[in-house]
Amino acid sequence: MEVCRIHIVAFLVTLYLSCFCAAHGWGIDGHLITCRLAQTRLSKSAANAVSELLPAYADDDLASLCSWADRVKFRYHWSSPLHYIDTPDNLCTYQYNRDCKDEDGVQDRCVAGAINNYTNQLLTYGTTASQYNLTEALLFLSHFIGDIHQPLHVGFTSDRGGNTIDVHWYTRKSVLHHVWDDNIIETAEERFYDSNVDELINALDKNITTVWANQAKAWAACSNTACPDIYASEGIKAACEWAYKGVDEGSVLEGKFMHVLLIDAY
Ligand SMILES: [Zn+2]
Repeated sequence: MEVCRIHIVAFLVTLYLSCFCAAHGWGIDGHLITCRLAQTRLSKSAANAVSELLPAYADDDLASLCSWADRVKFRYHWSSPLHYIDTPDNLCTYQYNRDCKDEDGVQDRCVAGAINNYTNQLLTYGTTASQYNLTEALLFLSHFIGDIHQPLHVGFTSDRGGNTIDVHWYTRKSVLHHVWDDNIIETAEERFYDSNVDELINALDKNITTVWANQAKAWAACSNTACPDIYASEGIKAACEWAYKGVDEGSVLEGKFMHVLLIDAY
């Protein structure tokens, strides 16, 4: 069971651990990895729709635009709260009605609400007069599915998902949120994958079809149109069990997370 958990967390770590960008956002590689893995698993009809919705300059590569939603935060100011969820401090639980709102208390404005919204927009694809910009809906959805799996994108309210906790990643100054967005994945790439993100993607891809095959089926299970509440609940649980655990202001972080990645790298 512990091994399963390690695998799951490692999967989350590698998939979600990179959207830092500004205050809340996984880094570029984390999003690239999630979109690259996702695009190869689409049904034929979904793959065709994605190809048609992507701009020509993307050259049919969803991953190349997976960080678009972070880049437009400043132009689309309204979209900033859609990248994360703040949950009550130390409760380690998530509830949509309680937690999915922005700082002004407007309901549904969080990453789970955004996933529901953009999924519903995309369901109008193929209808004669969709009122939505479905290219933007696709780019937002692809990005937010990555964000919601970074444990600290479903974090505590008072520390803004670990953004106010100063730590060291090895000898480098960082903040806890950034460790989970970027530092772990960057260090894993450097140490285990010749600094080559494609090698990391290949290793993950291989694990998904072999040692993680059974878990991967469970990860894909969803009886609703979209299942962001499952991912958000897993996220805050992982945040408490891994990201926040034993971490204080000034903590030096290193081995334990790399160990998790090392196990799954080989
Ligand atoms: Zn983001």
